[in-house]
Amino acid sequence: MTGPRDITVVGASISGLRATQALRELGYDGRLRLIGAEPELAYQRPPLSKRFLTGSQTAQSLRFALDPALDIDVQLATRATGLDLAARRLHIRTTGTKNDSRLRFDGLVIATGAEPIDLGLAGRPGVHLLRSLPDATALRDALHRGTPRVLVVGGGLIGCEVAATCRTLGLEVSIVEREPLLMRVLGDRVASALTGLHRTQGVRLHLGVALADLHGAPTVEAAELSDGVIVPADVVVLAVGVRPAVDWLRDSGLPLRNGVLCAANLGVRGLERVTSAGDVTAWPDPLDGATRRVEHWDNAVAQARAAARTLLTGPAAPPFRDPGIFWSDQYDLRLHVLGRPQPTDLVEVDGPIETGGCTARYLRHGRLAAVALLNRPRELGRYRRLLAS
Ligand SMILES: Cc1cc2nc3c(=O)[nH]c(=O)nc-3n(C[C@H](O)[C@H](O)[C@H](O)COP(=O)(O)OP(=O)(O)OC[C@H]3O[C@@H](n4cnc5c(N)ncnc54)[C@H](O)[C@@H]3O)c2cc1C
Repeated sequence: MTGPRDITVVGASISGLRATQALRELGYDGRLRLIGAEPELAYQRPPLSKRFLTGSQTAQSLRFALDPALDIDVQLATRATGLDLAARRLHIRTTGTKNDSRLRFDGLVIATGAEPIDLGLAGRPGVHLLRSLPDATALRDALHRGTPRVLVVGGGLIGCEVAATCRTLGLEVSIVEREPLLMRVLGDRVASALTGLHRTQGVRLHLGVALADLHGAPTVEAAELSDGVIVPADVVVLAVGVRPAVDWLRDSGLPLRNGVLCAANLGVRGLERVTSAGDVTAWPDPLDGATRRVEHWDNAVAQARAAARTLLTGPAAPPFRDPGIFWSDQYDLRLHVLGRPQPTDLVEVDGPIETGGCTARYLRHGRLAAVALLNRPRELGRYRRLLAS
């Protein structure tokens, strides 16, 4: 069987961009299209909750460039609206137009990422989501207009980063989180330390409760929590998680289960020459065998290359091995997490966890399974090698 000669990549953020670049690097010289719903090509999302919000990093510095020599036909402001697998046709629609057009392909990479859960509150004045550059620009403008009181809904990675950024700006900030601790995915010991860090930095914490209602019309003035507490707020940031961007695939017959369901090599289950990369992808993670979706930058970059390779190689392509790493910046803390901490792991800490400068080692069945480095970036290489082995 010869390889594909007409490949389309859907989603022009980091995994889509890196997939097109990898296809060329791997020697693919056929037709290559990159379709993206946003009006601009990929940019770095991680600074959107950090230095971009403080104003110390500009939009221009976040953008990626695409080498024209790669000969990629880029169609931005164009959304894939459907997929006809039998005819191998993609339905697309350009922003501002009413009709779909059809695009033939013989190879497809799905890289449509994830979209924030909005609790049905999007569009209400004062309520913000944070996924895209326009979202972040609107939030940054709101944070720099006077001294707003901020309520962050959700105490995961992005919620904690936004709260830290707002405190750095000197703003009054509250977090409401359903769980009893912030960033609970890191296990109770590390999560307790991070929760303490936010408390010490002056964030008001409402833990073990949920957002019940918003008051004020048309602009938000306060939030009511499930325990009846009223939190005054001019800016409400919803950081309650994301869901995979698969609505356009619903009628396609493509296997969907918390994302696009893939085999170990990121080939979409049961289909030839269709692969998936990044936040939209669910695959059997060799780190523990569980089928999961990962919502981190390094994973998106690494999966893009693997998805490109599988598209060109076919079903015999080797399994994808996730680097299993993410980072976060909060106040003066740089956190790196390698592997996948589990709530039942035994955690050993070798230093002052409350102030940072330590390593938390997660032991499972007596073996090192994951590591959290708190201001220990130099340890990264060593633990990466240790965990890989
Ligand atoms: C504020 C913020 C901070 C973050 N910080 C960190 C961090 O510190 N560390 C870390 O590891 N990760 C972080 N992340 C996560 C990281 O940015 C994501 O894992 C990464 O962006 C995933 O890349 P992706 O290309 O798979 O998906 P996305 O970046 O979501 O891109 C998907 C693209 O596909 C487009 N699209 C969707 N549907 C369609 C369609 N039907 N047709 C065409 N195009 C479509 C979207 O518009 C989007 O441009 C952060 C994310 C955010 C939002």
